[in-house]
Amino acid sequence: MNDHREASLYRLLMDLVSIPSVSPSSEGENRIAGFIHGKFQELPYFREHPEDLRLLPLEGDSLGRHLVFAMVRSAAETPDTVVLMGHMDVVGTEACGSLAPWAFQPEEYTRRIASAEISEDAREDLETGDWLFGRGLADMKSGVAAGMDLLIEAVMGRCNYDANVAVLFVPDEENNSSGMLSASSCLARFQEEEGLRYLACIDLEPTFATGDEAKPTIYLGSIGKINPFFFCAGKETHVGEYYEGFCAAPVISRINLMLDGNPEYADSLFGKAYPPFGCMRQMDLRREYSATIMTRAFAFYSYLTATRLPGQILSLMREVATEALRSAIEKYTANASAFAGMGGSSSSPRKWVPTVISFGELCEKAKALLGGDYDRFVGETLGSAPEGSDERSRAAILVEAMAGLCGIPGPMVVIGFLPPWYPHRANLGSNPGEQVMERVASETVMEMERQFGETLEIRPFFEGVSDLSYCGFQGDKSEMDIFAENMPGWGLPYKLPTEALAVLDIPVLNLGALGKDAHKNTERINLPYMMNVFPGILRFLVKRIIEGYRS
Ligand SMILES: [Zn+2]
Repeated sequence: MNDHREASLYRLLMDLVSIPSVSPSSEGENRIAGFIHGKFQELPYFREHPEDLRLLPLEGDSLGRHLVFAMVRSAAETPDTVVLMGHMDVVGTEACGSLAPWAFQPEEYTRRIASAEISEDAREDLETGDWLFGRGLADMKSGVAAGMDLLIEAVMGRCNYDANVAVLFVPDEENNSSGMLSASSCLARFQEEEGLRYLACIDLEPTFATGDEAKPTIYLGSIGKINPFFFCAGKETHVGEYYEGFCAAPVISRINLMLDGNPEYADSLFGKAYPPFGCMRQMDLRREYSATIMTRAFAFYSYLTATRLPGQILSLMREVATEALRSAIEKYTANASAFAGMGGSSSSPRKWVPTVISFGELCEKAKALLGGDYDRFVGETLGSAPEGSDERSRAAILVEAMAGLCGIPGPMVVIGFLPPWYPHRANLGSNPGEQVMERVASETVMEMERQFGETLEIRPFFEGVSDLSYCGFQGDKSEMDIFAENMPGWGLPYKLPTEALAVLDIPVLNLGALGKDAHKNTERINLPYMMNVFPGILRFLVKRIIEGYRS
């Protein structure tokens, strides 16, 4: 790349990073979308073809945010289109501590971080002078800059592709991915109305690894992430008459002990296991102190998937909840008998009938009870959550209210899912598009070696969770229904564009900058790679994808 081009890419990257587009925020995220749109608008091509440059509002977004879609058409008319995508938002700067005010000014931030406490690996990188530190540099303004740079070059006619090349930049990826959820509906519409045929969606997320593992990598898929929840209800009693009731604590504790970090439940593909269930939050749902034992508890998990879908995960959760209840009741009975034997009580232990019910089944019961008032009940209950409540806390309130309404005697467990859900996208080599992606990835590895003498690794999944999850859906559509039925508050407002996901099936890849420590105070990119290697290898990849479908 010549010096002028390099300078303009660097300038573009600095401009993008300087906009604090922390999500969710109306101001920052709209500012960066406006900046990108504005940059494209300056180009004569888009003045002649304004219909190919769009700043589109997200569907039903309370913050009024936008996505950017821009496309340069091939000289010969074709439906074939390669999409380069990325997210414009970043995470906050809390992790940067006292250096936070400079987090969006990489040069200054890099100078200042030299005097901060940082890991050995970060220190070594800093001392090479090749790494630039700052919020959003890796994740993923580097990718956005590279995508813009490629499109601008194509628009100026300095590089011709035998297919349309588009960029798609979305907000909110670090939050609920509402940007990409809206975008998948747009992509489905362009496919339907304009007849576009998507050859590939290339996400430009940076490498996601630490230490010696942090090598340039091309990812063939994107890991899935789902948030299963458990709501446990017991039977209230005064602590002075403990055995007259049933405490929820031993039930939720058993679930946690069985599930959290247990490799037995880890998903795997091609002989490699992915991380197990990890507990994200555990809470009781009581609001006041009293002498009543704890009768309601809620816990939710994150679980990374490579193959598993909601139906299978729900049955696994049912097994775990059933076993937790069985074992908690067994222990209760043993305790109560022993207590009676110690002269503590003259009555015999109570008999408990446990219930495990999915949120979907609970809703059916509530509908039968409420009839036409069901929707109002759901709306009012969600509306009763304190202003600004997190979606997951609102969901817990709804489950609790519905369990109360249905009056199922405890001990019981309700199982279901919380937003957001990132379905996995794996390359199984099962269709021509996936086969092209696999082949082209290998060719890119060879090209990297030939042109730059660098090693490029191929990995099955981008393990940091990405918007590639929404380039289609790998599984039966009914699996999306299972998720929807078992997610408290589906559509209010969180939902997946299930219709769009069912009609999209875009082959995916991820190739990005060489970065490290995304979300940390030491987030950084390797500058020589960003400026000299990544742009060339990305152009090669796009060209080979287009040719790959024709050979
Ligand atoms: Zn990212």
